[in-house]
Amino acid sequence: MHYASDNTGPVHPKVMEALLRANEGYAPAYGAEALTREVTNQIREIFEAPDAVVHLVATGTAANSLLLASHTAPWDTIFCSRVSHIHEDECNAPEFYCGGAKLTLVPTEDGKMSPAGLRAAIEAEETRGVHGPQRGPVSLTQATEKGTVHTLEELCALTEVAREFRLRTHMDGARFANALSTLGCSPAEMTWKAGIDMLSFGGTKNGLMGVEAAILFDPARDTEFQLRRKRGAHLFSKHRYLAAQMQAYLTDNLWLDMAAAANAACQNLADGFREAPGANLMYRPEANILFARLPRSTHRRLFAAGAEYHLWNGYLESGAEDERIAARFVTDWSANPSDTERFLSLL
Ligand SMILES: *Cc1c(COP(=O)(O)O)cnc(C)c1O
Repeated sequence: MHYASDNTGPVHPKVMEALLRANEGYAPAYGAEALTREVTNQIREIFEAPDAVVHLVATGTAANSLLLASHTAPWDTIFCSRVSHIHEDECNAPEFYCGGAKLTLVPTEDGKMSPAGLRAAIEAEETRGVHGPQRGPVSLTQATEKGTVHTLEELCALTEVAREFRLRTHMDGARFANALSTLGCSPAEMTWKAGIDMLSFGGTKNGLMGVEAAILFDPARDTEFQLRRKRGAHLFSKHRYLAAQMQAYLTDNLWLDMAAAANAACQNLADGFREAPGANLMYRPEANILFARLPRSTHRRLFAAGAEYHLWNGYLESGAEDERIAARFVTDWSANPSDTERFLSLL
Protein backbone atom coordinates (compact mmCIF):
# COMPACT_ATOMS: atom_id res chain seq x y z
CA MET A 1 0.00 0.00 0.00
CA HIS A 2 2.52 2.50 -1.31
CA TYR A 3 0.97 5.91 -1.81
CA ALA A 4 3.71 8.19 -0.52
CA SER A 5 4.81 9.31 -3.98
CA ASP A 6 5.10 8.10 -7.54
CA ASN A 7 8.86 8.28 -7.18
CA THR A 8 8.89 5.52 -4.55
CA GLY A 9 7.95 2.90 -7.16
CA PRO A 10 10.26 0.71 -9.23
CA VAL A 11 11.71 1.36 -12.68
CA HIS A 12 9.85 -0.45 -15.45
CA PRO A 13 11.65 -3.68 -16.46
CA LYS A 14 11.74 -2.57 -20.11
CA VAL A 15 13.73 0.45 -19.02
CA MET A 16 16.20 -1.72 -17.13
CA GLU A 17 16.54 -3.93 -20.20
CA ALA A 18 17.25 -0.86 -22.32
CA LEU A 19 19.95 0.16 -19.87
CA LEU A 20 21.56 -3.27 -20.19
CA ARG A 21 21.44 -3.05 -23.99
CA ALA A 22 23.05 0.39 -23.85
CA ASN A 23 25.78 -1.04 -21.65
CA GLU A 24 27.73 -2.51 -24.57
CA GLY A 25 31.18 -1.29 -25.51
CA TYR A 26 32.11 2.34 -26.07
CA ALA A 27 30.00 5.32 -27.07
CA PRO A 28 30.75 9.00 -27.52
CA ALA A 29 30.13 11.00 -24.33
CA TYR A 30 28.06 14.09 -23.44
CA GLY A 31 25.12 13.24 -25.69
CA ALA A 32 27.07 12.90 -28.93
CA GLU A 33 26.04 9.26 -29.38
CA ALA A 34 23.36 7.88 -31.68
CA LEU A 35 20.87 7.12 -28.90
CA THR A 36 20.52 10.78 -27.99
CA ARG A 37 19.95 11.73 -31.63
CA GLU A 38 17.31 9.04 -31.89
CA VAL A 39 15.53 10.16 -28.71
CA THR A 40 15.58 13.77 -29.87
CA ASN A 41 13.92 12.73 -33.12
CA GLN A 42 11.40 10.57 -31.28
CA ILE A 43 10.39 13.53 -29.10
CA ARG A 44 10.19 15.86 -32.10
CA GLU A 45 7.89 13.39 -33.80
CA ILE A 46 5.69 12.76 -30.77
CA PHE A 47 5.30 16.51 -30.24
CA GLU A 48 4.97 17.30 -33.95
CA ALA A 49 7.72 19.84 -33.43
CA PRO A 50 10.55 19.31 -35.93
CA ASP A 51 12.49 22.35 -34.68
CA ALA A 52 12.21 21.64 -30.97
CA VAL A 53 15.40 21.36 -28.97
CA VAL A 54 15.61 18.49 -26.49
CA HIS A 55 18.04 18.10 -23.59
CA LEU A 56 18.02 15.33 -21.03
CA VAL A 57 18.70 15.99 -17.36
CA ALA A 58 18.38 13.78 -14.31
CA THR A 59 15.93 15.70 -12.13
CA GLY A 60 12.81 17.73 -12.56
CA THR A 61 14.31 20.50 -10.48
CA ALA A 62 17.16 20.76 -13.00
CA ALA A 63 14.77 20.80 -15.97
CA ASN A 64 12.61 23.50 -14.40
CA SER A 65 15.51 25.62 -13.19
CA LEU A 66 17.56 25.45 -16.39
CA LEU A 67 14.60 26.13 -18.67
CA LEU A 68 13.43 29.05 -16.57
CA ALA A 69 16.94 30.45 -16.14
CA SER A 70 17.44 30.41 -19.91
CA HIS A 71 14.44 32.72 -20.27
CA THR A 72 14.69 34.89 -17.14
CA ALA A 73 16.97 37.84 -16.38
CA PRO A 74 18.21 38.25 -12.78
CA TRP A 75 15.89 41.25 -12.35
CA ASP A 76 12.81 39.41 -13.63
CA THR A 77 10.07 37.69 -11.68
CA ILE A 78 8.49 34.37 -12.65
CA PHE A 79 4.72 34.05 -12.26
CA CYS A 80 3.65 30.75 -10.76
CA SER A 81 1.00 29.21 -8.58
CA ARG A 82 1.18 29.44 -4.82
CA VAL A 83 1.45 25.65 -4.56
CA SER A 84 3.87 25.16 -7.44
CA HIS A 85 6.77 22.76 -7.05
CA ILE A 86 9.18 25.52 -8.14
CA HIS A 87 7.99 27.59 -5.19
CA GLU A 88 7.47 24.97 -2.49
CA ASP A 89 9.78 22.09 -3.24
CA GLU A 90 12.96 23.14 -5.04
CA CYS A 91 14.90 24.87 -2.27
CA ASN A 92 14.99 28.09 -4.35
CA ALA A 93 16.84 26.36 -7.19
CA PRO A 94 14.95 28.34 -9.86
CA GLU A 95 15.88 31.61 -8.16
CA PHE A 96 19.48 30.39 -7.74
CA TYR A 97 19.87 29.32 -11.39
CA CYS A 98 18.24 32.55 -12.54
CA GLY A 99 20.90 34.48 -10.68
CA GLY A 100 18.57 36.22 -8.26
CA ALA A 101 15.27 36.43 -10.10
CA LYS A 102 12.22 36.01 -7.90
CA LEU A 103 8.86 34.31 -8.01
CA THR A 104 5.55 36.14 -7.94
CA LEU A 105 2.92 33.87 -6.42
CA VAL A 106 -0.44 33.90 -8.14
CA PRO A 107 -3.54 32.96 -6.09
CA THR A 108 -4.42 29.36 -6.69
CA GLU A 109 -7.51 27.22 -6.47
CA ASP A 110 -7.33 23.45 -6.86
CA GLY A 111 -3.71 23.85 -7.98
CA LYS A 112 -4.63 26.18 -10.82
CA MET A 113 -4.23 29.90 -11.39
CA SER A 114 -7.13 31.72 -12.98
CA PRO A 115 -6.56 33.97 -16.01
CA ALA A 116 -7.89 36.93 -14.00
CA GLY A 117 -5.57 36.14 -11.09
CA LEU A 118 -2.61 35.81 -13.42
CA ARG A 119 -3.46 39.07 -15.16
CA ALA A 120 -3.74 40.91 -11.84
CA ALA A 121 -0.38 39.53 -10.70
CA ILE A 122 1.32 40.52 -13.95
CA GLU A 123 -0.23 43.98 -13.89
CA ALA A 124 1.03 44.52 -10.35
CA GLU A 125 4.66 43.93 -11.36
CA GLU A 126 6.94 46.08 -13.54
CA THR A 127 5.26 49.16 -12.20
CA ARG A 128 8.15 50.65 -10.25
CA GLY A 129 10.77 51.23 -12.96
CA VAL A 130 14.28 50.22 -11.95
CA HIS A 131 13.13 49.84 -8.35
CA GLY A 132 11.01 46.73 -8.83
CA PRO A 133 11.08 43.40 -10.62
CA GLN A 134 10.58 43.15 -14.35
CA ARG A 135 8.07 40.70 -15.78
CA GLY A 136 9.47 37.26 -16.59
CA PRO A 137 7.96 33.95 -17.72
CA VAL A 138 4.76 32.29 -16.54
CA SER A 139 5.16 28.76 -15.20
CA LEU A 140 2.27 26.36 -14.80
CA THR A 141 2.11 22.73 -13.77
CA GLN A 142 0.32 19.95 -15.68
CA ALA A 143 -0.94 17.77 -13.95
CA THR A 144 -1.04 20.15 -10.98
CA GLU A 145 0.46 19.53 -7.55
CA LYS A 146 -3.09 18.99 -6.27
CA GLY A 147 -3.84 16.23 -8.76
CA THR A 148 -6.08 18.31 -11.00
CA VAL A 149 -5.57 18.71 -14.73
CA HIS A 150 -5.90 21.94 -16.73
CA THR A 151 -8.25 21.54 -19.68
CA LEU A 152 -6.93 22.72 -23.05
CA GLU A 153 -9.24 25.75 -22.77
CA GLU A 154 -7.78 26.60 -19.37
CA LEU A 155 -4.24 26.26 -20.67
CA CYS A 156 -4.99 28.48 -23.66
CA ALA A 157 -6.68 31.10 -21.49
CA LEU A 158 -3.57 31.31 -19.26
CA THR A 159 -1.03 31.40 -22.08
CA GLU A 160 -3.12 34.04 -23.83
CA VAL A 161 -2.71 36.35 -20.84
CA ALA A 162 1.04 35.69 -20.90
CA ARG A 163 1.22 36.41 -24.61
CA GLU A 164 -0.65 39.67 -24.20
CA PHE A 165 2.23 40.84 -22.02
CA ARG A 166 4.82 39.16 -24.30
CA LEU A 167 5.85 36.74 -21.58
CA ARG A 168 7.25 33.27 -22.18
CA THR A 169 5.40 30.24 -20.84
CA HIS A 170 6.82 27.18 -19.11
CA MET A 171 5.04 23.95 -18.26
CA ASP A 172 6.25 21.83 -15.34
CA GLY A 173 5.29 18.44 -16.70
CA ALA A 174 6.64 16.18 -13.98
CA ARG A 175 3.32 14.35 -14.48
CA PHE A 176 2.81 15.30 -18.11
CA ALA A 177 1.90 11.74 -19.14
CA ASN A 178 -0.73 11.45 -16.41
CA ALA A 179 -2.38 14.67 -17.56
CA LEU A 180 -2.20 13.66 -21.20
CA SER A 181 -3.80 10.34 -20.42
CA THR A 182 -6.68 12.14 -18.70
CA LEU A 183 -7.28 14.65 -21.47
CA GLY A 184 -6.78 12.15 -24.28
CA CYS A 185 -5.36 14.88 -26.51
CA SER A 186 -2.05 14.97 -28.39
CA PRO A 187 1.21 16.12 -26.78
CA ALA A 188 1.29 19.02 -29.28
CA GLU A 189 -2.20 20.12 -28.27
CA MET A 190 -1.25 20.19 -24.60
CA THR A 191 1.90 22.23 -25.25
CA TRP A 192 2.92 24.44 -28.15
CA LYS A 193 -0.52 24.42 -29.74
CA ALA A 194 -1.83 25.71 -26.39
CA GLY A 195 0.85 28.42 -26.31
CA ILE A 196 3.51 26.67 -24.20
CA ASP A 197 7.07 27.68 -25.10
CA MET A 198 9.05 25.21 -22.99
CA LEU A 199 8.33 21.98 -21.19
CA SER A 200 9.86 19.97 -18.37
CA PHE A 201 8.83 16.55 -19.67
CA GLY A 202 8.74 14.16 -16.72
CA GLY A 203 9.96 10.58 -16.74
CA THR A 204 11.19 9.65 -13.28
CA LYS A 205 7.80 9.67 -11.56
CA ASN A 206 6.38 7.58 -14.37
CA GLY A 207 8.70 4.57 -14.39
CA LEU A 208 12.18 5.83 -15.31
CA MET A 209 15.24 5.64 -13.09
CA GLY A 210 16.04 9.33 -13.37
CA VAL A 211 15.50 11.25 -16.60
CA GLU A 212 13.50 14.31 -17.56
CA ALA A 213 13.58 16.02 -20.93
CA ALA A 214 13.84 19.78 -21.15
CA ILE A 215 12.08 20.72 -24.38
CA LEU A 216 12.37 24.15 -25.99
CA PHE A 217 9.73 24.53 -28.69
CA ASP A 218 11.46 27.74 -29.71
CA PRO A 219 15.17 26.93 -30.13
CA ALA A 220 16.34 30.55 -29.79
CA ARG A 221 17.82 30.03 -26.31
CA ASP A 222 19.34 26.61 -27.03
CA THR A 223 22.95 27.70 -26.66
CA GLU A 224 22.19 29.50 -23.44
CA PHE A 225 20.44 26.41 -22.10
CA GLN A 226 23.41 24.23 -22.98
CA LEU A 227 25.89 26.58 -21.35
CA ARG A 228 23.78 26.80 -18.22
CA ARG A 229 23.38 23.03 -18.07
CA LYS A 230 27.15 22.51 -18.19
CA ARG A 231 27.88 25.35 -15.79
CA GLY A 232 25.17 24.02 -13.49
CA ALA A 233 26.83 20.57 -13.46
CA HIS A 234 23.91 18.84 -15.13
CA LEU A 235 25.60 17.71 -18.35
CA PHE A 236 26.07 13.97 -17.91
CA SER A 237 29.17 12.51 -19.54
CA LYS A 238 27.84 8.93 -19.79
CA HIS A 239 24.79 10.39 -21.43
CA ARG A 240 23.78 7.21 -23.25
CA TYR A 241 22.26 5.88 -20.02
CA LEU A 242 19.89 8.83 -19.85
CA ALA A 243 18.97 8.47 -23.52
CA ALA A 244 18.42 4.70 -23.22
CA GLN A 245 15.84 5.22 -20.49
CA MET A 246 13.99 7.88 -22.44
CA GLN A 247 14.04 5.77 -25.59
CA ALA A 248 12.47 2.80 -23.81
CA TYR A 249 9.91 5.17 -22.27
CA LEU A 250 8.77 6.48 -25.64
CA THR A 251 8.88 3.17 -27.50
CA ASP A 252 5.57 1.35 -28.07
CA ASN A 253 3.76 3.95 -25.92
CA LEU A 254 5.21 2.57 -22.69
CA TRP A 255 5.00 6.07 -21.14
CA LEU A 256 1.29 6.31 -21.92
CA ASP A 257 0.56 2.79 -20.68
CA MET A 258 2.32 3.49 -17.39
CA ALA A 259 0.46 6.77 -16.89
CA ALA A 260 -2.87 5.12 -17.69
CA ALA A 261 -2.17 2.41 -15.10
CA ALA A 262 -1.25 4.98 -12.44
CA ASN A 263 -4.35 7.03 -13.19
CA ALA A 264 -6.61 3.97 -13.11
CA ALA A 265 -5.23 2.99 -9.70
CA CYS A 266 -5.96 6.51 -8.46
CA GLN A 267 -9.52 6.33 -9.78
CA ASN A 268 -10.02 3.07 -7.88
CA LEU A 269 -8.79 4.74 -4.73
CA ALA A 270 -11.03 7.74 -5.36
CA ASP A 271 -14.10 5.54 -5.77
CA GLY A 272 -13.32 3.91 -2.44
CA PHE A 273 -12.80 7.26 -0.72
CA ARG A 274 -16.16 8.48 -1.99
CA GLU A 275 -17.85 5.61 -0.20
CA ALA A 276 -15.74 5.58 2.95
CA PRO A 277 -17.35 6.87 6.14
CA GLY A 278 -15.82 10.07 7.41
CA ALA A 279 -13.64 10.61 4.33
CA ASN A 280 -13.82 13.51 1.97
CA LEU A 281 -11.88 14.30 -1.15
CA MET A 282 -10.36 17.76 -1.21
CA TYR A 283 -9.85 18.28 -4.95
CA ARG A 284 -11.03 16.43 -7.99
CA PRO A 285 -8.51 13.60 -8.46
CA GLU A 286 -7.96 13.83 -12.21
CA ALA A 287 -4.55 12.22 -12.59
CA ASN A 288 -2.64 10.04 -10.11
CA ILE A 289 -2.78 12.20 -6.97
CA LEU A 290 -5.58 12.28 -4.45
CA PHE A 291 -5.99 14.47 -1.38
CA ALA A 292 -8.49 13.47 1.29
CA ARG A 293 -9.39 14.31 4.85
CA LEU A 294 -9.77 11.36 7.17
CA PRO A 295 -10.41 11.06 10.90
CA ARG A 296 -7.28 10.71 13.00
CA SER A 297 -8.43 7.25 14.10
CA THR A 298 -8.64 6.11 10.47
CA HIS A 299 -5.10 7.35 9.79
CA ARG A 300 -3.89 5.40 12.80
CA ARG A 301 -5.54 2.23 11.53
CA LEU A 302 -4.13 2.65 8.02
CA PHE A 303 -0.60 3.38 9.20
CA ALA A 304 -0.72 0.51 11.69
CA ALA A 305 -1.62 -1.84 8.83
CA GLY A 306 1.40 -0.64 6.86
CA ALA A 307 -0.08 1.92 4.48
CA GLU A 308 2.44 4.51 3.32
CA TYR A 309 1.38 8.06 2.51
CA HIS A 310 1.96 11.59 3.74
CA LEU A 311 -0.21 13.61 6.09
CA TRP A 312 -0.49 17.06 4.62
CA ASN A 313 -1.18 19.48 7.46
CA GLY A 314 -1.53 17.89 10.83
CA TYR A 315 -0.13 15.45 13.31
CA LEU A 316 -1.14 11.97 14.24
CA GLU A 317 0.13 12.17 17.79
CA SER A 318 -2.10 14.68 19.50
CA GLY A 319 -5.71 15.76 19.07
CA ALA A 320 -9.24 14.40 18.97
CA GLU A 321 -9.68 10.96 17.41
CA ASP A 322 -12.46 12.15 15.14
CA GLU A 323 -10.61 15.26 13.96
CA ARG A 324 -10.06 15.07 10.22
CA ILE A 325 -6.52 15.36 8.94
CA ALA A 326 -5.60 15.95 5.31
CA ALA A 327 -3.38 13.47 3.51
CA ARG A 328 -1.97 12.93 0.04
CA PHE A 329 -2.08 9.63 -1.82
CA VAL A 330 -0.12 9.11 -5.03
CA THR A 331 -0.27 6.06 -7.29
CA ASP A 332 2.35 4.90 -9.76
CA TRP A 333 2.47 2.61 -12.80
CA SER A 334 3.21 -0.44 -10.68
CA ALA A 335 0.30 -0.03 -8.25
CA ASN A 336 -0.96 -3.46 -7.33
CA PRO A 337 -4.77 -3.90 -7.50
CA SER A 338 -4.81 -6.33 -4.57
CA ASP A 339 -2.96 -3.75 -2.40
CA THR A 340 -5.53 -1.17 -3.40
CA GLU A 341 -8.30 -3.59 -2.44
CA ARG A 342 -6.70 -4.24 0.92
CA PHE A 343 -6.30 -0.52 1.53
CA LEU A 344 -9.92 0.18 0.65
CA SER A 345 -11.24 -2.56 2.88
CA LEU A 346 -9.21 -1.10 5.75
CA LEU A 347 -10.59 2.32 4.92
C1 LIG B 1 8.55 15.71 -8.50
C2 LIG B 1 8.25 16.99 -9.16
C3 LIG B 1 9.27 17.71 -9.83
C4 LIG B 1 10.70 17.25 -9.93
O1 LIG B 1 11.28 16.87 -8.76
P1 LIG B 1 12.77 16.27 -8.67
O2 LIG B 1 12.78 15.65 -7.34
O3 LIG B 1 13.70 17.40 -8.82
O4 LIG B 1 12.93 15.29 -9.79
C5 LIG B 1 8.91 18.88 -10.47
N1 LIG B 1 7.65 19.33 -10.46
C6 LIG B 1 6.65 18.66 -9.86
C7 LIG B 1 5.26 19.21 -9.92
C8 LIG B 1 6.93 17.48 -9.16
O5 LIG B 1 5.93 16.84 -8.55
